[in-house]
Amino acid sequence: MSSQEVVFISGATGFIAQHIIKLLIEAGYKTIGSVRSEEKGEDLKSLLKSGGLKSELFSYVVVKDIGAKGAFDEALKTHPNITVFLHAASPVTFEVADIEKDLLNPAVEGTINALNAIKEYGKNVKRVVVTSSYAAVAGFADLATPGKEVNEDSWNPITREQALTNPFLGYIGSKKLAEKALWKYVEDNKPQWEITVVNPVFVFGPQAFEVKDKSKLNASNEVINSILTAGKKKEEPQQYASYFIDVRDVAKAHVLAFEKKEAAGQRLIVSEGPFTSGEIYDIIVEDFPKLKSEIPRLDKSKGPKFEDSESIVNNEKTRKILGFKFIDLRKSVDDTVAQLQ
Ligand code: NAP
Repeated sequence: MSSQEVVFISGATGFIAQHIIKLLIEAGYKTIGSVRSEEKGEDLKSLLKSGGLKSELFSYVVVKDIGAKGAFDEALKTHPNITVFLHAASPVTFEVADIEKDLLNPAVEGTINALNAIKEYGKNVKRVVVTSSYAAVAGFADLATPGKEVNEDSWNPITREQALTNPFLGYIGSKKLAEKALWKYVEDNKPQWEITVVNPVFVFGPQAFEVKDKSKLNASNEVINSILTAGKKKEEPQQYASYFIDVRDVAKAHVLAFEKKEAAGQRLIVSEGPFTSGEIYDIIVEDFPKLKSEIPRLDKSKGPKFEDSESIVNNEKTRKILGFKFIDLRKSVDDTVAQLQ
């Protein structure tokens, strides 16, 4: 791949997408992002500029709702020179009124709308990368199979009916159903482009640019932020035991996913390793001693045990394809907390 490529990325304002855009621009790729409003596009452009990046390499298109029929048609009609399409947009929230309308439809229809637009108007597209999730790979909560090995061939057993039972399972189900729809589309349509799917676990790490509102971060970083803000908010943080990856590594994986031939046709489970909220708490109080008095002590006995709740991830294949060492938990937590201070 050369820097002559024109890369499109959906959901450009997102936590992960902003890091991807940063890497794309640093590598000299002309980048077009979809955002939900002109205001959000202008904000992002000014963040890139103030971050010292060549903002002239970035432009945006407005796609208000990826789930609306034909959502990406105009974007591809206007930019027929797009050669790489990254689909990162999807609702990442557990606060929804209607699981079907607010989670499942935008995730599944959003993916199909992107692929249909490429089919109709994206004749120069050679590579497509879709951000799926570990949620598509392994079961969570009642659907978890603790101790079972999962790898790049594994699928979460969750069904559409189970996904409709609560917003947490709704998000998990939205990712599995969207990825299933994607592979079916590839199978049925035999497109001219090659596909890579990135399946991140919990993504931690600093935001790509300055954070204006520190009271609530993107869903995954709330695992860390809720420990930091527990005192002020007088809210006991929900505790987790799962797998993590740093956002800077997730971004790198998306870029390598279209740059590397070996990544074509693959699912990439980007996971560095396990974490518990208790470990995150320990890292924070060890590395930021002045915070110790501000943060309520975390009662680790109330947290889930990793061995009772999680499958065993074997992502050797992904690590070999990507070929770089992932950031460890301490650095990921330290850099996240340092940015919030
Ligand atoms: P994020 O910060 O919430 O970003 C999501 C992006 O999608 C935002 O730009 C959002 O726009 C956009 N979006 C959501 N619904 C939309 C809709 N209906 N129409 C148009 N745009 C819409 O989340 P993230 O953590 O960066 O997640 C990015 C991708 O990674 C998602 O596909 C997510 O499922 C996947 N993922 C994330 C994690 C994680 O731990 N963070 C783990 C595994 C997979 P607005 O902000 O303007 O609403």
